[in-house]
Formats: sequence, C-alpha cells, structure tokens
Amino acid sequence: MRIIISLLLVLVMLSATCAGMAAPGQTTVILAGDYWDGLANRPQGYVEILVVDGKIAEIGKSVIRPEGAKIIDLSTRFVMPGFIDTHIHLTGGPKVVANLASLNDAALALAGVSACEKVLNNGFTTVRDAGDFSINAWVVAELKKAVEAGDIRGPRIVHGGHMISAVGGHFDFSGLLRNGITMQQVSVAEGVIEVKRVVHSEVSHGAEWIKVAGSGGFMSPSDGPDDVSYSQEEMNALVAAARDLGKHVLVHAYGDEAVHRAAIAGVRSIEHGSLSSVSTLEMLAQKGIYMVPTQIAVVANARETAKGNLNMYVPEWTREKNVKYAGKILECANNLAKSDVRIALGTDLGTFDFSVNGATEFSEMVRNGISPLRALKAGTSVAAEMLELNTGSIIVGKRADLVAMPGNPFEDISVTEKVNFVMKDGVVYREDK
Ligand SMILES: [Zn+2]
Repeated sequence: MRIIISLLLVLVMLSATCAGMAAPGQTTVILAGDYWDGLANRPQGYVEILVVDGKIAEIGKSVIRPEGAKIIDLSTRFVMPGFIDTHIHLTGGPKVVANLASLNDAALALAGVSACEKVLNNGFTTVRDAGDFSINAWVVAELKKAVEAGDIRGPRIVHGGHMISAVGGHFDFSGLLRNGITMQQVSVAEGVIEVKRVVHSEVSHGAEWIKVAGSGGFMSPSDGPDDVSYSQEEMNALVAAARDLGKHVLVHAYGDEAVHRAAIAGVRSIEHGSLSSVSTLEMLAQKGIYMVPTQIAVVANARETAKGNLNMYVPEWTREKNVKYAGKILECANNLAKSDVRIALGTDLGTFDFSVNGATEFSEMVRNGISPLRALKAGTSVAAEMLELNTGSIIVGKRADLVAMPGNPFEDISVTEKVNFVMKDGVVYREDK
C-alpha cells in the first residue's frame, strides 16, 4: 500500500511539473549574486530565496535548506521579479493585423500559442491582454485556460476581453471589408444601453478587465488619434457597468479630450495617452489613474518619424498620422517623465511582431527621461499593484515569479533584454547555463 501511495505521489508530482505547476511541497533555494525586490531604491546585494509551493517562503543572506530542496545557483547573475506587460495583444502579430477582417480564429489561436512561448521566454511572467483580435470569438480566454491547465507554456494572463469600440471607431473592422459584406463584431457598441450590454457580454465570456477604445488611433483607417469615440455619458455608463460587476476599465486614448473623459469617468488605466496635456497628466496623478504609455510602439516611432525615417511598412493613412503627430508625441513623453503619474509598463506587442523583445520597453522609457528605478517598478511592482495581483515583488508570501540576467539593470537598463532564467509560480521555464 505504501509503495502504491509513493508511486501515486511521484506521478502527481511529475504531472504537476509537466503541466507547469509547482508540485505540492516542492522546495527550491535560489542563490542570487545580486538582487532587487521590486520596491527598494537600489540593488540589495547577495541573497538566498526559499521557494515553497510556488510562493516565496523566506529571504535572507542564508536561508534554511530543507532536505530534498533543489538548489539553483544564480550567484553570477542579477535576480529581480518577473516582468509584467500590462498591454499586449497575444492574438496579434503582423499576419493577423494585415488580415483582420478575414482570418479564421484558429489562426489567431495559433498566433497566441507562439506569442505566449516567446513572451515568457523573455522574462514576462504576467501579461494583461489589452484586446482580443478575434471578431466574434474569445480566443484569449482559451489561451488563458490552456496556460493555467499547463497545456501550453506562457505567462499568467489577465484577460481584457475585446476592445469595445464605437461604430467606425478604432476597433470596428467593418471598414476594412468591401461593400456589401457585413460582419458580426461582438464589441462594437454605442449608446448607454448598448455599451452596458457589451460590458455584460464581455464579462460573461471571462473578461477580467473591460477595454474601451476611447479615441481613434494611428492604425485605424477611418479615425484619428484626436477623435473622441464616446460621450461623457457613454464613458460613465461603461465604467459604471464594469464596476457593478467588480471590473476595472482600461481605455485606449491618444487625444487629450479622450484621456480627460476617461479620467472623469473613473477608469483605472489609460493606454498610450500620448497626446495628454500637462493639466490632464496632473489630474491622472491626483486621481491615482495609471498610465501605460506603450513607448516602443508610439514614442520610438515618433522619434524616427521626426528624423525623417518614415515607417514604410504601415498603410499610407497611418504614415500620414505619424508625420502629423510626431512632434506632439515627443513633447508629451517628456511631460510624462516630469509628471508624478503612476506608470505601468506595456508594449502593445501584437500590433507589431513578437520577434521584438518586450523588455526593450524598459530602455525606451529610460531614453524618454523616465528613471531606471521608475521604469523597473513600472514593469514589476507598480504593474502588479495596478492589476491587483500577488506578484511583482520579491517578498515573503508573494508568488515566486523571478527572472535573472547577466548584469545590473540600474547600471545598464538594456540588460533586461538578456534574461537567462525565468521562474513562474516556482516552476523554472528557462535556465541558461
Ligand atoms: Zn493595444
């Protein structure tokens, strides 16, 4: 009997490991040459971290080493909390974006599986999906389930549903179809009653946040970044409907008026916010609303455009808007760096190729005047605080989401792009020798 129980225990532990879950009682001791806990003002030197059942159990210069514990020697590396990307589109990528109105959802699911693997490998242990690219299916919800079941390798996914959009707005793809063809897009809604119905629909399909297109954008053919999609009444109704179901709202908003309306309505995060005025930034800081500036997607492009290096891989309508707004975007990025707004890291990966390492957003933020400490917090503890998750810092009781890299990111922020160890929930997903 005892042999059978032991065998069963081994099988349970094995299957848990294969499925990417910490086996019950599994203990690991990590020896970190230098580390940062996600909160302190500077690196904190050598440390040992005891991980039990996927959580951080003890931190110190010398922790207990339970019998059978796995020792992971990272004594030549820098250890910090796993990165968090709060704005990603796992079902995107250039092939999807170029064929939005015609692709089968199976193609989006396959794109998502591939994206999950790459993102985790680069050190992102948590992501918030900021808009499923499927027209009328819930592909991200399935990706989330597959990761949680251990069927695919990927980051923890916070599911933001589809981007709710006005007719002809940023996420209404019907303008991309030729005349006479209609599509059943689940997230196009206008008017107080309709927006409430769509919020309920999104949540009933598993959305944990409500994403709204508050303004037009650069990639949409029929509207611009300064165009405002929803009235104050509609925006208030969206936030109220989400709040009644215990959900927060994230708003895609470039122009100042759209950002301002979203802030009045009481959203939790502004996505891009790239044309916000100084007074609106002050309002965000005062109300504790987070900004996810997605600077590799927006500011890096504006810098190149301002130098005359136009992106020829985007449609002409996008290029024209890039030229028109480049100067204003650079000015606003400068104002954001000087502001007290709480910044969370987001990449907008999926609107461009997943071959780009999302950790380049750390360097981009620093390039735009944000301090390395603020940038690093944006991708760890502040992002976790915004998402209300028990991760993002190395303290006892938190989930054991850790990454290591070959140098100190406070001295060279680009070392965040060289992650060579990834642990999520106490399970090692990458361990370069
Ligand atoms: Zn986006």
